Amino acid sequence: MLDTLARNEAAVRLGIFFGVLMLMMGWEVMAPRRKLNHGRGLRWTGNLGIVALNTGIARLVFPLAPVAVAALAAERGWGVFNVVELTGWLAIAASVVILDFAIYLQHVMVHAVPALWRLHRMHHTDLDFDVTTGARFHPIEILLSIGIKMAVVVLIGAPAAAVLVFEVVLNAASMFNHGNVALPAALDRALRLVVVTPDMHRVHHSIDASETNSNFGFNLPWWDRLLGTYRDQPAKGHRDMTIGIDLFRDPADLRLHRMLAQPFVSEIGDYAINRRDFSDPDHR
Ligand SMILES: [Zn+2]
Ligand SMILES: [Zn+2]
Repeated sequence: MLDTLARNEAAVRLGIFFGVLMLMMGWEVMAPRRKLNHGRGLRWTGNLGIVALNTGIARLVFPLAPVAVAALAAERGWGVFNVVELTGWLAIAASVVILDFAIYLQHVMVHAVPALWRLHRMHHTDLDFDVTTGARFHPIEILLSIGIKMAVVVLIGAPAAAVLVFEVVLNAASMFNHGNVALPAALDRALRLVVVTPDMHRVHHSIDASETNSNFGFNLPWWDRLLGTYRDQPAKGHRDMTIGIDLFRDPADLRLHRMLAQPFVSEIGDYAINRRDFSDPDHR
C-alpha cells in the first residue's frame, strides 16, 4: 500500500498538509498558548504565500522528488540498504530515523555557518509563532534541504516508502510543533519523550540567542538531548518570551517580498556560530 501512496506522492502530501493545517488552525482558536501580537491576515499572506512559491520552485528545479530518487536508487542498487538486505519494516524505520538525524544536523549547520544563517533566519523573523510559521522557509533553504535529503536517500538507499513516510511525518510534525496551542504540562512531558512538542520548539523561536540555539529537532526530540542542545523551557516563560530575532522587528518585514530579500539585506547579526551560553545552569 505504501508503494501505491509513494506513486501519488504529490496528492498525498497536499491532502495531509491541508488536513493538518485546518486541524491545527481550529485548535489554535480553541486553546491558544499565547496572544498573537500581529494580525493573522498580514502574517498568513506571507507565510502561506511562501509555501505556494516553494512548492512551485521545488518542482521546477527538481523534476524528481526525493521519493522518486529513492525508487531510482533501488532500481540501480545504489546505497547501503539496497546492498545490505534488511527486512522491509526495519529498513523503513532505520531510514526514517537516519533522515531525521540528518535534518537535525542540517538545522544546526544553518544556525552555525554565517552565510547559511542568512538563509535560515527568515524562519526566525516571524514575529508570532503559529502553525503557518512551520512552513515558512526561504526558497533557497528549501532547495538546499531537498538536495541534502536526496544525497542522504541515495547514500543510505532509503526505500521510497520510507522517504514518503518521512516527508509526510516531518511536514505534519512541523505544523504540530509550531502550533500556538496549550497542552497540559504532564501531557507535554510525556509527548516530549517521543516527539518535539510546541512548547519544546517554541524555545527555539526565542529572541534570546542562547535559546534560539537550542532544540533543533523537528520530529524526534532525542538528538537535542543526546547531543547537548536541549533546553527545557524559555527563561521568561512561554507567554512573556519574545518571538523572533533582534533584526527585522518591523511588521512590514512580514510581507512576502521583504521575506524573500532577508538573506541579502542587513548584517549577519549575533546569532551565528556558537552563541549558546552554557555558563548559566538554567541554560544547560
Ligand atoms: Zn532554526
Ligand atoms: Zn521553527
